[in-house]
Amino acid sequence: MSDRIEKLINSAAGKKLLGAMGVTVATDLQRYNTSQTSYFAGTVLVGAGENAKLLPNIQTNLKDSDAQVFYSPDAAAQLAGDADSNASSERYQALIFDGSGFVDATELVSAYRFFNANIRKLKSSGRIVILGRPHLQCKTPEAAATQRALEGLSRSLAKEVGGKGATAQLITVAEGAEANLDSSLRFILSPKSAYISGQVIKVRSADTPAIADWHKPLAGKIALVTGASRGIGEAIADTLARDGATIVGVDVAPMEADLNKVMARLNGKAVIADITSADAPASIAKALSELGGADIIVHNAGVTRDKTIANMNEQQWQMTLDINLAAAQRITAELLKTNTINDGGSIVGVSSMNGIGGQRGQTNYAASKAGVIGYVDFMAQSKELADKNITVNAVAPGFIETAMTAAIPLFTRMFGRRLNSLSQGGLPVDVAETISFFGNPASRGVSGNTVRVCGQSWFGA
Ligand code: NAD
Repeated sequence: MSDRIEKLINSAAGKKLLGAMGVTVATDLQRYNTSQTSYFAGTVLVGAGENAKLLPNIQTNLKDSDAQVFYSPDAAAQLAGDADSNASSERYQALIFDGSGFVDATELVSAYRFFNANIRKLKSSGRIVILGRPHLQCKTPEAAATQRALEGLSRSLAKEVGGKGATAQLITVAEGAEANLDSSLRFILSPKSAYISGQVIKVRSADTPAIADWHKPLAGKIALVTGASRGIGEAIADTLARDGATIVGVDVAPMEADLNKVMARLNGKAVIADITSADAPASIAKALSELGGADIIVHNAGVTRDKTIANMNEQQWQMTLDINLAAAQRITAELLKTNTINDGGSIVGVSSMNGIGGQRGQTNYAASKAGVIGYVDFMAQSKELADKNITVNAVAPGFIETAMTAAIPLFTRMFGRRLNSLSQGGLPVDVAETISFFGNPASRGVSGNTVRVCGQSWFGA
């Protein structure tokens, strides 16, 4: 019955009826498919504030796409004859604005002018990308305030364009990390980031190898995925394998048949282990070292044991904290101790929106998922990872359509999935694409980030 109601709502007639009733109707998001020849096709308008520093990097990046690029007069003037000012009255698939040179609040008016004149021209499923500098690395308080202002601007733009399935993000690029912008700009412009909006991606300086084939950026890499037999973990395994990686999937004994099925399909290796068991870190390290070590570690396995804290027993608390947080730390520690994570590798934690915003009945879960973010923040600054060029990041999914969320009662579910700027739930592949972006060797400048994959959920920061 609930499936029939759901189908009706999502049919063309259902959407029309909802629209007529004034209910926000979700726009179908465009997602990546492997037949796409380049990461981006369509028209782009590039604008810039004073002293914009990233225009040449934007220009180089777009040359590798199927974009038709237009420049605002300000941007063209700063490219010094390298680009004509050919802004037209076209509609655009993407609006990119370089605000990296802003040092004073009064200068922000050029960002206002750019978006005031052009935001109506953004197509559905379009992209807004604002580029700036990390505010804490600015030289004056005025510059720091101005750079931080770009965050409020981009998050608000995301809310203004979400209704047409379009997204907006800020990418902050540290001084000296200009060449590291490439992988983030590709990811955000591409359909791979369909369900990410209102986010800030921080890019720092790092040596990155050239990518021979952007359709297989993980070629030759070994990836560990815990909880790989179903749901988001299965999608992560599928996506990393699609991008060229060999998968080592871990799950508990009751999921053995499902895990074997997924690993057989992907030509991967199944490891049956409860990640909280005492011997799990060593057995996972052994399985990975037999393949020459791991390049991407994805701590996806997770559980919920929901109760308000007054009704929660200690076992429900402990079990959730152990699976979602402590076990992943023990495994990472063992892999680092045994040198099983290769130089230039990537560690990814799976957090949650509820770890950011908190949730009634989920004190245990939210504590564990906030802990994942704390671990990422700390480890990204650690010498231990810096010495080996290993990045560490987290994804924080919002409402993702899985067996877990399908079990939520119909009306709560219908309501829950719409509480974000894109008015819909995300797909497991949306989380997986973000993890593949973190694992890409070209993303070595992307570390210490927690990226929410939540359609800009109205809850949390
Ligand atoms: P799921 O329950 O479908 O899958 C979790 C997998 O982890 C299962 O295969 C399970 O067997 C495995 N697992 C659980 N305990 C384990 C253990 N001790 N050792 C080894 N494997 C174990 O859940 P999902 O919806 O696919 O979620 C995956 C991750 O994403 C979790 O960390 C979850 O907290 C997080 N997340 C999900 C959503 C969502 O909307 N579905 C939202 C935010 C975060």
